[in-house]
Amino acid sequence: MRPLALCFALLISASAAYSQQPQRPNILFIMSDDHGYQAISAYGSKVNQTPNIDRLAKEGMRFDRCFVTNSICGPARATILTGKYNHLNGFTTNEKKFNGAQQTVAKLLQAGGYQTAMLGKWHLVTDPTGFDHWSILQGQGPYYNPAMKTPNGVVKHTGYTTDIITDQALEWLDKTRDKNKPFLLMYQHKAPHRNWQPPPRYLDKYKDVTIPEPANLFDDYKGRGTAARENQMSIAKHLTPNDLKLTTQAGLGPKQLEIFNKAYEEENKKFEEAKPQGDDLIRWNFQRYVKDYLRCVDAVDDNVGRVLKYLDDNDLAKNTIVIYTSDQGWYLGEHGWFDKRWMYEESFRTPFLIRWPGKIKPGSVNTDLVMNLDYPETFLEAAGLPIPADMQGRSLVPVLEGKTPSDWRKSVYYHYYEFPQPHHVHPHYGIRTDKHKLIHFYTINEWELYDLEKDPNEMQSRYMDPAYEQTVADLKRQLEELRKQYKDDGTVAEFDSLTPKP
Ligand code: CA
Repeated sequence: MRPLALCFALLISASAAYSQQPQRPNILFIMSDDHGYQAISAYGSKVNQTPNIDRLAKEGMRFDRCFVTNSICGPARATILTGKYNHLNGFTTNEKKFNGAQQTVAKLLQAGGYQTAMLGKWHLVTDPTGFDHWSILQGQGPYYNPAMKTPNGVVKHTGYTTDIITDQALEWLDKTRDKNKPFLLMYQHKAPHRNWQPPPRYLDKYKDVTIPEPANLFDDYKGRGTAARENQMSIAKHLTPNDLKLTTQAGLGPKQLEIFNKAYEEENKKFEEAKPQGDDLIRWNFQRYVKDYLRCVDAVDDNVGRVLKYLDDNDLAKNTIVIYTSDQGWYLGEHGWFDKRWMYEESFRTPFLIRWPGKIKPGSVNTDLVMNLDYPETFLEAAGLPIPADMQGRSLVPVLEGKTPSDWRKSVYYHYYEFPQPHHVHPHYGIRTDKHKLIHFYTINEWELYDLEKDPNEMQSRYMDPAYEQTVADLKRQLEELRKQYKDDGTVAEFDSLTPKP
């Protein structure tokens, strides 16, 4: 063969090989804020239906034991971006600022040829880094008429925030992105975070239904130490008139406010007349709070449906990994609470549903101990990129393929810091295994042990029970090992020490 012809033949075979290579998958990461698994029908919700979110469970995998490193908004987001516990990424509480100079999964994917976008709730104080495109709520952000920060300044929007964030996601998918590159889209809702202002279309939903109460709505905390008793997140005492829509709501336009007031008027009048007290008041508060929460969830579910439809209609579903999760779990009245923070199951666990056609068997359910710490490693492996050694989680890719490695983690480590405001939850760390959970409220030096098989609602600490003496000793040893493994010696990395050195 003459040199030119040979060269031509090589070119043809190289291009054929390239076209045979599987396309790298897009990653659509959908995260809501404070959405407990108890309010997702794919997880067996007793209180609502979420048909669009459920699609991901039907067409993909449902994780029943996905845990967070620290059950609170900003710290959970910092873990998802860095693959590190909060003492290493520096964002231990919502009072911190995220140092965007440190390594993040967005930067690694961007450098690896992905197009990256971040839309919606960010909540890390400093501006996003590692994203080609971003538009974020400022701080927590309002339910109505949000002003969103972009690289080009603040843009004011009119309407319902959950719908607006989705409009922006669809706009970016359809018009803004470079369609020749794979993408990471972090599409993150503010809903259903407190103060639960529903969209006009759902203000009347659940009006004539009674939402079932959890069995431990009236928990008296006698089965545990002092920490739970000192909480400031009870449905009995800590929901404000604003939370309960008993006062005029801020942030709404005149027309929006008129619709809003009208929806609550009649029930509020009855409430003023009846003046419920004691358990009746707790029950009234529970119904009012949970109904508004579920109305906000309904709007999230609608919008997840809009985005999934866009993927279907534009031939993107097949090569896009879609995840639905929340930044952490949530109390829908369990232990008498709203909010999160505790290592007790409802807030420690978070929903995690994932669809990846061709890789995940539709309708699978997984019970391995997985964590939000594992998401960035998963994205990197899916994108065919190396996983940095300093990330502390593990890629879920083999787990998704139904091949959980034999040395997969047998326990999960947790560390919560924020105290005393806003809910007076004492700092604690702990370990959860398949069967047990040991928690150390270290600033007051109190321990709690739960037998998760016999007591799944965690109502009775067994820490002082002689029958569990050996279990406590074993778990304490394992907990110390985990603290060493995750390099948690009680010190927290400072903003400056997180800046990579040149
Ligand atoms: Ca949250």
